[in-house]
This record gives sequence, C-alpha cells and structure tokens, in this order.
Amino acid sequence: MDPRRDLERPIFREVFLPLYRQLIQNACVNTGDADSGHEDRSIEVLRGFFEARGLPCQVFHARPGRGNLLVRVKGTDPSAKSLMFMGHLDVVPASAADWSVDPFAAEVKENQVWGRGAIDMLCWTAAQAVGFAEAVLAAGPKGFAGDLAFLALADEEASGRWGAQHLVAHHWESVKADFMVTELGGFFVPTVRGPVAFCNLGEKGVAWVKLSARGTPGHGSTPYRSDNAVLKVSEAALRLARWKFPFRGSRVYRSMARTAARTWLERCALNLKPGQRWGLSRVFARNQGLARFLHTASRTTASPNVVRSGQKVNIVADRAELLVDVRCVPGTTKQALLSELRRALGRRLCSEVVLEITDWFPANQSDARTPLKVAIESLFLEAHPDSQLADMVIGGVTDGRFWREKGTTVYGFSLFSQQLTMDAFAARIHGIDERLDLESLSLGLAFFSELPLRFWR
Ligand SMILES: [Zn+2]
Repeated sequence: MDPRRDLERPIFREVFLPLYRQLIQNACVNTGDADSGHEDRSIEVLRGFFEARGLPCQVFHARPGRGNLLVRVKGTDPSAKSLMFMGHLDVVPASAADWSVDPFAAEVKENQVWGRGAIDMLCWTAAQAVGFAEAVLAAGPKGFAGDLAFLALADEEASGRWGAQHLVAHHWESVKADFMVTELGGFFVPTVRGPVAFCNLGEKGVAWVKLSARGTPGHGSTPYRSDNAVLKVSEAALRLARWKFPFRGSRVYRSMARTAARTWLERCALNLKPGQRWGLSRVFARNQGLARFLHTASRTTASPNVVRSGQKVNIVADRAELLVDVRCVPGTTKQALLSELRRALGRRLCSEVVLEITDWFPANQSDARTPLKVAIESLFLEAHPDSQLADMVIGGVTDGRFWREKGTTVYGFSLFSQQLTMDAFAARIHGIDERLDLESLSLGLAFFSELPLRFWR
C-alpha cells in the first residue's frame, strides 16, 4: 500500500487528526460580524503546536480576538524562490438542527470526519501546519534553498478585512511569497478517459452591482399608468439574468471542456459559440454542477439576488433597489462592464435606474506551467496513476486573490482520495453534513509534507 494512505501511522493518527479535530471543535464561526470568528482559539492551538517543535510564530491582529499566524523558515539561498502554505481558520455558520451530527463535535464516523470546516478549509490548514513541520524536520539542518512559510488567516469567510487584506496591505514584507498553495481544488470528476482532478489557477473578477429606481407613490388600488419602482427593478433583474454575455473560450476553459465532454461532438460544441448552449445542456443533463462550473468559466455572469422595495401593500412603490452578483472574465474593466450592463438594460431602463458598482475585485490567474505546478503534478500522479490533472478557474473567490494581485503564483490544490468528487465537494462546502474521508486527510497531509522537498529538488 502507498504509505501516504496508511491511516495508522503515528504522525497522522496522533498528531494530525487531533489537531484537525480541535480546529473544527474551536468553532471559529464567521457570521460577517466584526466580533465573530474568535480565531484566537485556533491561533493558540497552532502556536502550541509549532513552539513545541522549536518553530517560532508571529501573530498579527487587526482586531482583538481575530489573530493571524505566520511561521517562516529562512532559505539558504537568497536568490531561490519562496513557497507559502496559506489556510484560513474561520468557518461559515451551521444550523445544527439540519445536520445528522453535532457540526462542531468533529466526530469520526464511517471513516470520515464530520463537522463545519471539514473541507472548507480546516483539512487544508491542519495538513499545511503538520506538513510544514514535517518538511522542515525532513530537510534537517541543511534546510531548503528558499523560504518556506505557513500562514493561517482570520476572516476569509467575510471580506478578509481582519486577515488577508490587512496583512497584504500592512505586513507585506512578512507575508510575501513567490509561490503559494491554498484552497480550492483537488476534487475529482469521473470522465470517459478516467478520473480527472482540478488544480485551481485563478478566480473571476467580482463586481457587486446596485441598481436603484425611484417611482411616484399613489394608491395601490389605481395602478393604471402608475410610476412603480418595483416594475423597473423587476424588468432589470429579468433582462440581466437573461442577457447573453459574450462567450470566452480561454485556454483553461477549453481544458475544462475537454474534461467534461463525453464525445468528440460535445467537445467541439462546448468550444464553439454557436454550439456551447447545446453542449452545456448535454452536460447539465448528467451533472448540473459541472455544467454550471463550465458556464461560469466561459463568460461574465450576472445573478440578481436581492430586491428591496416598497413600504406597504396598498402604496405604489416609490423606491426599489436590486443587488446583482456579477462575476467578470479576465481583462474586464469597470468601464467595459458598465457599458455591457447598460446594453443589457436597454436605453429606456437605463434612464429609469441608477447603476453603480459597490464592490470590485479584478479577475486574477496564475501561470499554468511553473516549477510548483510540476511538483504538484508529480505528487498527484504518484498518488493517482490512473488519473489526470486539469486546470480550472473558479467563479468564487479565495484569499489567494490578494497575493495573485501582488504577483504571487497561487494554486488551489490538495491531494484527496477519489471519493471526493466535485459533486460531493459542492454539496458539502457551506452545506449540511460537511465531512471528509480519512484517506483524503491522510493524502493531504502527505502532500504538504512532501511538496517542499519536491519543489526545491
Ligand atoms: Zn474557504
């Protein structure tokens, strides 16, 4: 058996598992409130772990209770590239009544560890911490050529204001890195050519858009030719949701399409503007998550998600507001996006609503061919010789974006077992009964323990 799958080895059973379960039990729940999270509970656990191994930690606070922890071991060659493992400590809330177990007990049941944060992303954070210590030990007094760092962050599940954003803005010299591994990737999709796992290279841009409309109040019983703000934002919501943003078949999209297609015809269709709709509906019929994943990788998308309007049921609405989650393909500027949204709304609606971008972060993507990617791929193929590694970009965001923006090459990846399919991952992340199988945990630990040696070899 591959020793990386050995669930009885002491480093896995006696060191990794207790640490991982403790991070889940600490319940660092981030509600979006500045005083939620309480990441200091997990900071203390990690500090104890590292200091017991003679590895000094630096802790940064942008807000009391919401610590960030850095461990950095200097390299021997100042010209060598640095590598950082980055994970977050906070988790999203869980409604205990819907779960089949206590979401914060970190129970081990049916060969899986159950709990909020099990895959997002405490499995990574714990494997990175223990893997980091293992790698430093294995390198011995000779050390590594470049700096090896581990960073555990607060507040990823909100905006990163008390974590990533603060550190990148105020402590860049401490937290900078040439290469980084963080969430989100490594899950499997079964294909006609065997299982394929994805390495995440980048993220689409985020544009949160607000549309406001005004109307004229009047009696709800006489709506004939009334000036109703609800109708304006409703029409805007429909137009934006139905708007056909231009198809963009990037290299990464084409590689995702190759993975998803069952036949040559499907693959051609997915790669061509006129055929993509047909291709997507074929993929959707067998795997909805995969179809959505392909769709968002190939174009800008707009999802109208919040409507606020009206005062009372018998008053014609005099104001209404629509919030739209827009995710942009790389290269989109604010100006270009606003023009596209105006085209979608049409001239009349544009004169009736005020359009503004309230939050903006540009799309970001790392190079697919780098020494780190080669090291990742070699470890992946050793663990899964029957599989392939493919590239992807995601519609969601991670804290990795703050480093990509500064020029760091960032990949979202860990080694999992083939039980962690894309569907399982999508259902569990932020969902009910979040859990991860022990074999995946064991592989993840091995991945982060071995990656530095492979990277600087
Ligand atoms: Zn996460």
